[in-house]
Amino acid sequence: MAFTSRRDFLKTLGAAAAVSASSLGSRAAVSMAAEDRLPLTDFYVNREPLAPSSFYPLPLTSIRPKGWLLKQLEIQANGLSGHLDEFWPDVGTESGWLGGNGESWERGPYFLDGLVPLAYQLGDERLMAKSRKWMNWTLEHPQANGMIGPAKNDDWWPRMVMLKALTQHQEATADPRVAPLMQRYFAHQLRELPGRPLRDWGKYRWQDEVVSVVWLYNRTGGSDLLRLAEILHQQGNDWHGQFQNFAYTKKVNAKELGFQEGTPFPDRAMQTHGVNNAMALKSAALWWLVSRDESYRAGVGQQLAALDTFHGIPNGMFSADEHLAGKNPSQGIELCAVVESMFSLEQAMAILGDPAFGDRLEKIAYNALPGTFTDDMWAHQYDQQPNQIQCSLSQRPWTTNGPESNLYGLEPNFGCCTANMHQGWPKLTSHLWMATADGGLAAVVYAPCELNTRLGNISVSIEEQTAYPFDGKILLVVKPQHAVRFPLTLRVPAWAREPSIRVNAKPVRSVRPGSFAVIDREWKAGDRVELDFPMKPTVSRSYHNSVVVERGPIVYSLDILTEWRKLRTRGMTADWEAYPQSAWNYALEISERTAGSAVELKRTGSGRGVFTTEGALVRIEVQGRKIPEWQAENGCAGELPQSPAASDQPRETLRMVHYGAAKLRITAFPELSG
Ligand SMILES: [Zn+2]
Repeated sequence: MAFTSRRDFLKTLGAAAAVSASSLGSRAAVSMAAEDRLPLTDFYVNREPLAPSSFYPLPLTSIRPKGWLLKQLEIQANGLSGHLDEFWPDVGTESGWLGGNGESWERGPYFLDGLVPLAYQLGDERLMAKSRKWMNWTLEHPQANGMIGPAKNDDWWPRMVMLKALTQHQEATADPRVAPLMQRYFAHQLRELPGRPLRDWGKYRWQDEVVSVVWLYNRTGGSDLLRLAEILHQQGNDWHGQFQNFAYTKKVNAKELGFQEGTPFPDRAMQTHGVNNAMALKSAALWWLVSRDESYRAGVGQQLAALDTFHGIPNGMFSADEHLAGKNPSQGIELCAVVESMFSLEQAMAILGDPAFGDRLEKIAYNALPGTFTDDMWAHQYDQQPNQIQCSLSQRPWTTNGPESNLYGLEPNFGCCTANMHQGWPKLTSHLWMATADGGLAAVVYAPCELNTRLGNISVSIEEQTAYPFDGKILLVVKPQHAVRFPLTLRVPAWAREPSIRVNAKPVRSVRPGSFAVIDREWKAGDRVELDFPMKPTVSRSYHNSVVVERGPIVYSLDILTEWRKLRTRGMTADWEAYPQSAWNYALEISERTAGSAVELKRTGSGRGVFTTEGALVRIEVQGRKIPEWQAENGCAGELPQSPAASDQPRETLRMVHYGAAKLRITAFPELSG
């Protein structure tokens, strides 16, 4: 059967919904009536007057992890994410978000924002039961005025996070309580915000609430919701303006931030705050969606470009060891900023459909994210460094962070990351595929998975078999319920040289790096799409003209032999220091011209996670020589010598492993002079 137009189909439902848009109760009834045709979660058009997105995220459990990704989520579930509430009081039974007298601010919501998707993607009954307990408390304990969450804390900010957990819970379970609760809460906020405006963190993170406002608006309509979005934007920080005329071009000097005991963080400190900037990466895309102001469409790209130019580091992130910290690869980036950048790029990708966001998202997800956890995900850092030669309790030249920041542990420096880190892998999983505005499906990020969704009233599943990001070959087996025509949209990474796509062995024409290939045809069960994105080692340039070795989305690092020293036991886990047991001060004999001939050593998986030294699927051999004068200072690699750098030391063969596996590492190297 030919599939005509999914959009027409959705319009029918949209028209029915518009009749009762003012009343949530009758809107729910409309959804029920339409349920045999379309579940409440299938909304792949933005409701007018919102601008049309390029892509639409699929309901939470549409994408199941497979292969190494499944293993990674299982490692996470068996690690801190699956057990944190059993011993860390801030998300324990006394949490204010469970009705207790304990922590009543952001930590419960942060934990749930990752626990909900992890539990349902794995179908893990133990984790689903934990998740339900928290969701039920929030759903069953709204205040009479519509306010949600612990009564003793009225800050708007932690509720912005809980809304994201609630929408994921609704998508996974179709819980009918979610939309009415959100509706009443937003109505309360609409009444209250003029007299009690956004402040502190909420003022800088307003766009994350707009994500949930748009989610509800697409389901229920109602101009009140758009008015709320306007107020959030109006009261929030002007990120777009900040990056139109970017003033923070140097490592932040803590003295200039103007902190004063007992007063809120000054604007300057909040505008240069790493996690705020990471969250703000979605703000221009969302504001274009709501306002249709075309000047915002370029905003995400402008923010990324400015952060890259002045603070870019080789793992795909910008530096911010609390505040923006320049390009030196010994500066750090916080785990919260890593997972929030990922979520921002997932949102920006959906709205704007820019393939470059997929390249960036993969670079962060496949390097910075695993590189800041121990292999078993029982310990994490607050700040990771691209050039990280020692993790120890000592004062490093951070902008404002403390001496614990690069330890691997339970809550080094501050416990925000301990609560917030859980969303990284699960949300990546739920954004691997998206629905497209033209009634098809798009692969926007690659990893092994299985997609199960519906196009109109036809079930479609797609098996994605691959060892990507370690190998550029991806096999998609398309399995519609019966033959159906739809466009299949596939991201072709910008780094791919001579990429090719074949459908049932027939080549697809004009597959261009840095674009989306669209294959619009009738799909039958068992159709095979073979993607080949050849990966060769390449060199990019960083701080002091240093060389960084990459291969596809993976960044390679010198794996420094590591001695782990337990600093102290922390409940079910521990805090660890890591000391180098091998030399790291090398210059590499590699350049843009010679990188392609570097030796690659491939092997099959060891059964361990792929982001471990033992499980690493590809290593690269490079020649290098020591630079004796490049020495450690304050537990960091000293100032990176300007490239090219000379050395009369013996030539050595160095083995590089991917960044995510090398917990002590050098990533940006001096280039050896000829
Ligand atoms: Zn954090």
